[in-house]
Amino acid sequence: MNAATVDTHCPYCALQCGMGLRPAGPGTGTAAGARAAGAPAAGGPGVEVVERPGFPVNRGALCGKGRTAAELLAPGARLTTPLVRNTDTGVLEPAGWDEALDRVAAGLRRTGAAHGRDAVGVFGGGGLTNEKAYALGKFARVALGTSQIDYNGRFCMSSAAAAHGRAFGLDRGLPFPLADVARTGCVILVGSNLAETMPPALRYLTELRENGGKLIVVDPRRTRTAEQADLHLAPRPGTDLALALGLLHLVVAQGRTDEEFIAARTSGWAEARSAAMAHWPEMVERITGVPVPQLREAVELFCDAASSMVLTARGPEQQAKGTDTVGAWINLCLATGRAGRELSGYGCLTGQGNGQGGREHGQKADQLPGYRKLDDPAARRHVAEVWGVDPDELPGPGRSAYELLDALGRDVRALLLMGSNPVVSAPRAAHVEERIRSLDFLAVADVVLSETAALADVVLPVAQWAEETGTTTNLEGRVLLRRRALAPPPGVRTDLEVLNGLAARLGREKGFPTTPEEVFDELRRASAGGPADYSGITYRRIAEEDGVFWPCPQLPEGGSPTDHPGTPRLFLDRFATPDGRARFVPVTHRPADEETDDAYPVVLTTGRVLSQYQSGAQTRRVAELNAAEPGPFVQLHPRLAERLGIADGEPVAVVSRRGRAVAPARVSGAIRPDTVFMPFHWPGEGRANTLTNPALDPTSRMPEFKVCAVRLEAVRTGGAVETVEVGGSERNPGA
Ligand code: SF4
Repeated sequence: MNAATVDTHCPYCALQCGMGLRPAGPGTGTAAGARAAGAPAAGGPGVEVVERPGFPVNRGALCGKGRTAAELLAPGARLTTPLVRNTDTGVLEPAGWDEALDRVAAGLRRTGAAHGRDAVGVFGGGGLTNEKAYALGKFARVALGTSQIDYNGRFCMSSAAAAHGRAFGLDRGLPFPLADVARTGCVILVGSNLAETMPPALRYLTELRENGGKLIVVDPRRTRTAEQADLHLAPRPGTDLALALGLLHLVVAQGRTDEEFIAARTSGWAEARSAAMAHWPEMVERITGVPVPQLREAVELFCDAASSMVLTARGPEQQAKGTDTVGAWINLCLATGRAGRELSGYGCLTGQGNGQGGREHGQKADQLPGYRKLDDPAARRHVAEVWGVDPDELPGPGRSAYELLDALGRDVRALLLMGSNPVVSAPRAAHVEERIRSLDFLAVADVVLSETAALADVVLPVAQWAEETGTTTNLEGRVLLRRRALAPPPGVRTDLEVLNGLAARLGREKGFPTTPEEVFDELRRASAGGPADYSGITYRRIAEEDGVFWPCPQLPEGGSPTDHPGTPRLFLDRFATPDGRARFVPVTHRPADEETDDAYPVVLTTGRVLSQYQSGAQTRRVAELNAAEPGPFVQLHPRLAERLGIADGEPVAVVSRRGRAVAPARVSGAIRPDTVFMPFHWPGEGRANTLTNPALDPTSRMPEFKVCAVRLEAVRTGGAVETVEVGGSERNPGA
């Protein structure tokens, strides 16, 4: 590899694929190395992505998003000057940094003075590095003194996190390295389309099958991932909980529980067992639409294997009962002894680039760094000491993400937003957009003028992944180092510099360093002794070891940071509960918050496509990705399309109780006839989140993105609209 190549990681999803960045060649129209040496490029990105075969997670493979990630580094593709809204004309106009930061500090200070500190909110993102997430949480609590901070990761994996904590006493997405997936005997993959969301990870499922293992995919759609499966179960959206309970019922009925494991390593089995026994197979078939013989086959494959895993993603998690749904899958693992053992266990496939680390270090409403709880007096004392403040100064827990967005313009009247685009990505997005528009003051720090940034009073152009060093924690709990490969364009500052500048203007001259490693060292101290203990991890170790798995405490009394090896596999000896036992939680099926009815007879589910990422703010600006998937669509079954009289490619309106979206029909036999699917990457008329239901899980406060009731209307030429009835038998083929 070229000596000038910098080893780093992709800016997008939680796989955090290793990649190299090297000075761009003449073919890119950029002088090779120009910006790598610190000078701005004339027009191109200045660097190009190359493979990094030695990195163990993706072994050189990249998807199209990662391969094209450098394009957004080009100065012409992003913001390079602060923008301030002209109060007379209402137009965003270029401004200097001092003016922009002065305006932000004044806006936040003015609101706090007039309406109280909790009238100022902060909204972060699961793509922010650990250092930024940590600094943002500290900024909210120390510089602003507000309790009102949360982040878009609440929309991503909080139900799995809550279920993890409840059952195992600790939340880490995967309690084992991803490579273990290839060596287990059977995997049940629930609500994940790895082939499109993180394609390089698909190789582990391919290797699993090459090694003789079995793959069961649970998804209402026959996705590219489901096509690889030995068994595909296609439940009605929102019924995964019943499905898991039905499988556990069969496990018990067939005498396939692991009584020795249950007795030695768990608690609460009797209650969970009786809850599962109330879900007999025929009833589960009626609820889910999955035939009983398929349920039996799944149990056989799962229990016949010497080791097995269940992996969940957003499908079962983004539901108003997501925590219980994940809990039901965990119960299945525990009852069969498939947890806390080599090559067996439950894991969550985290979505966003730093979805794992972003939920550990303090940007969550109820949390302090190191996965400590904000309402724990000992945790407050420890972190307050690191921050040099009185524990009593720290505010208490605030609102969860949707509740915070819903309070905008009312209880929360000014907002600082960093690394998120809720106008596209929040549920009930038209309402959220209206709440954002009603704010007294909005400041957004972002790389591009996202749909949310376009509404701001002040927009702060910030550096991105390759232009600044920082750590992320991938879906395995492996802490990684993204290295700076080139300087940001002139006019751009880092998020840490933004927080430093704002804190100084708010009277906190000290405590907000701008050097990432300095922030990380403080994070290490703040996390020491907490559940997510990073104190033994250093930048140097990460670089030398291809990442370090947390927890990795620094050993006391003269121990060096390298004394602890990190923890690739959790729970092998004991679970992280006080008594060391995993906890069964009794759960029972309940319907989705919004069931179909005569007015809204079809189920809508949402998700991602191969060539776009999350709200699309970045990937919609990359030509190759946009060409591959330029806009939204409505996937629907041929029978449903026939009833509508809709041909493939014709526009169809999808209407829920919250609004209406229009996109071309994509007619496909790969989806249930009672369900339609829309990807959520686009704003405007085809915005899927205009439709989604913000009903919250009572424990995780995660919204029910994955299921709501809609009706379809054929959009005829000339604008005439035809409402289409869908018969009862189509609503649930399993009934
Ligand atoms: Fe990037 Fe995820 Fe694609 Fe890997 S799979 S290249 S991390 S978007």
